[in-house]
Formats: sequence, C-alpha cells, structure tokens
Amino acid sequence: MLDIQAIRANFPILTQTVNGKPLVYFDNAATSQKPQVVIDAISNYYSTINANIHRGVHALSQLATDAYEVSRQTIQKHINAKHAHEVLFTSGTTHGINLVASGFSAFVKAGDEVMVSALEHHSNIVPWQMLCERTGASLTVIPLNDKGELIMEEFEKLLSEKTKIVAVNHISNSLGTINPIEFIIQKAHAVGAAVLIDGAQAAPHLKFDVQALDCDFYAFSGHKTCGPTGTGILYGKEEWLNKLPPYQGGGEMIKEVTFAKTTYADLPHKFEAGTPHIAGGIVLGTAIDYLNGIGFDAIQAYEQELLVYGIQKLQEIDGLTLIGTAAHKTSVISFNLQGIHPYDVGSIVDKMGIAVRTGHHCTQPVMDAFGVPGTVRASFAFYNTKEEIDALVTAVLKAQRMLS
Ligand code: PMP
Repeated sequence: MLDIQAIRANFPILTQTVNGKPLVYFDNAATSQKPQVVIDAISNYYSTINANIHRGVHALSQLATDAYEVSRQTIQKHINAKHAHEVLFTSGTTHGINLVASGFSAFVKAGDEVMVSALEHHSNIVPWQMLCERTGASLTVIPLNDKGELIMEEFEKLLSEKTKIVAVNHISNSLGTINPIEFIIQKAHAVGAAVLIDGAQAAPHLKFDVQALDCDFYAFSGHKTCGPTGTGILYGKEEWLNKLPPYQGGGEMIKEVTFAKTTYADLPHKFEAGTPHIAGGIVLGTAIDYLNGIGFDAIQAYEQELLVYGIQKLQEIDGLTLIGTAAHKTSVISFNLQGIHPYDVGSIVDKMGIAVRTGHHCTQPVMDAFGVPGTVRASFAFYNTKEEIDALVTAVLKAQRMLS
C-alpha cells in the first residue's frame, strides 16, 4: 500500500493553488511532476560537478562522466538491457524514434513496407512516413476496433516478408490502451521484421524487460517518468545499433576524422554526438531510482484503482461518452460531453484548478477513427487521489451546466 500523503509531500508543485483552488494535476500523460530529489539533484549537479563529459582529464570532468555512466547503468538495470552500451541517451521519445527511422533508410527500399498502428502518437507516424518518402517503401497501418484496441487478426493479415519494421506504442497516450506488444514482437520477428516500441506512456507506469520482450528498440521520455525535460532513452539491441548508421555527426561520435574518411566511435558514443544534456541524463537515473524506491507493482496497482474509480464516477454523468474502453488500459480517461467542445470543458475545469488536456493529443488518426475533433483527457499518476477525481467530476458537472 502506498502512503499517498507521504508521496505527495515529495512533489512541491502539488501544494500550489491554481486560480485560487488547490492544483489537481491530471495531465501526467503530457509530462509528470518532479519530486524534490530530482529537483535537488539538478541543482547539485550544477553546484558541484558541472563539466563536460568524456573530454577532460580534469577531476570535475571525470566526476561528471562517471555520474553520467552510472545513470546509464541504472537505466540498463531498470530495463534489463544486456549491455550498458545498448542504452542511448536522447532528448526524448521523438528523438529516439527519429534516430531509428532515419537509420532505417539503409535497410528499406522501394516495395518494402513499414508498419505502424492507428493508435500512434504523431511522433511514431511522421518519422516513418518520412522514411517511406525517402525510400519508396509504403506505410501499412494496424487498424483499431471501436474500443480503441488494435485488431490483431488484421495485424497478422498485413504482416508479410515485405514488412521491414513494425513501430507501435506500448500504451496509447490518448486512450490508455495497453497493446499486446509481446504478441506483436513475436509475430513480426517470425517474418523477419524488426520492432520498435514507443514506450513513452508505459515507462512511467510499469516495469518492462527489454530482453524478455525481445524488442529491437524501445524508446521513452525522461520527462514523463519524473525526470527532467529534454531527456530520454533509446534502447537498441547491440546488433541493430552496430548495423544502424549514425544519426548525427559531430564531436564524441568518432574514432578518427580525416577529410578522406571518418570512422565512428563504438556504442553508445556513435549515437551521442555533441554535448548532451549532462545534468538531465544524470538526473534521469535519480528519477528512475525514485520510482523504483516506490515500486512499480505498487504504482500499477494504485493507478489501476484510480482508473477504475475515475471511470465509474465519470460514467455516472449523463451525456458523457468515454472514448477508448479497452479491456487492458491504464491511467488515461478520454471523454466528451454531448454537444460541448472539449476545449470549453478544459477551460472551465481549469478555472477550478484542474489541469486536463484537451484536443487531439497528437493522435489525429485516433480522433478520426472515433469521429471526434478531440477529447478531454484526464491522465493519472501515483500521486493523484480519489478526492481529486471527485473534484474533477464536480468540475465537469459544472462545465456541463454552464455550457448546455
Ligand atoms: N509517443 C507517445 C505515446 C507519447 O505520449 C509522446 C508524448 N506525448 C511521445 C511519443 C513523444 O514524446 P516526447 O515529446 O517526449 O518526445
């Protein structure tokens, strides 16, 4: 059992009032709040060991480098990667996906297929469309059913020897659907396709094991997992990262540079050109340690409780439609009020101190599939409470009264 009040005390922002009301933060799928240990670790880095990494022989540079590599190992252990050099620091999920999609130009040609799903965030669609434009490959799309679940029979029908890579999310950001990625990975591998998992919405909520999953790539964002903005991780299997061409050229990613030819550094440096977000990378390790300290089993169980409670309470509102009712779902409730634009609902609940997101959530194809312009999305974290859900319900009822 989590001690929610003790956990909330770790998050200074949660004591704030917004529009004169206690802040209720239900926009966790956009970014999570940061615990004091993370905030302190950022300050500590800049106050005590700030230096560039991998460059100097001097003491501070060594300390910064060591801390950066310790963080990499923390993350390696957390996701159970076989090697630390399979863990690349990125600026976020978007960076990780673009790195892979860009490099896949080397493995994809006209006539090949690249597969995504109808449930993807734009950042797991557009880079693949760009890959298809560059190479002449075509994009295939796993369709959705009316609950917001991927249709596995259709996936299997679409899959063929032409499929070179399948890129799907672990959990949908707009609906909260948990996708059957184990099945997808296994079937894709059976036809020789690689698999990239967009784990942006999974990493904050559950523990995953990249070796057990056997995925080829797994990308997530630090800022959604209690870490700093501008940080992220791309896990890649060693054999893929060795084959994949570098994404960016520059300092630190080379072995030797001459005007005739440049040879590239070993992993992970081949993919880490330039000065990275050093403080961010180090502190992402702090954030992962913090989450593990709470425990992902406890986080998942509690968030499930919030989800069930939230669905039950919101469903009692006349004229409210839930968008996305998958059997396996986490931490996200998307809904609309009959005849009222989601933006208007969001504005009124904001006046009551409640932060929700409204719009298409960077998943326009999902909105198109449901025939809605957007939704109101409440997304939960382990520091939210049932009382906050009650406040949301009151605010939504008020919005309905005011706008009907
Ligand atoms: N994929 C999913 C499922 C997401 O929810 C997000 C962020 N909303 C992203 C990708 C992109 O993440 P970032 O903006 O941190 O790069």
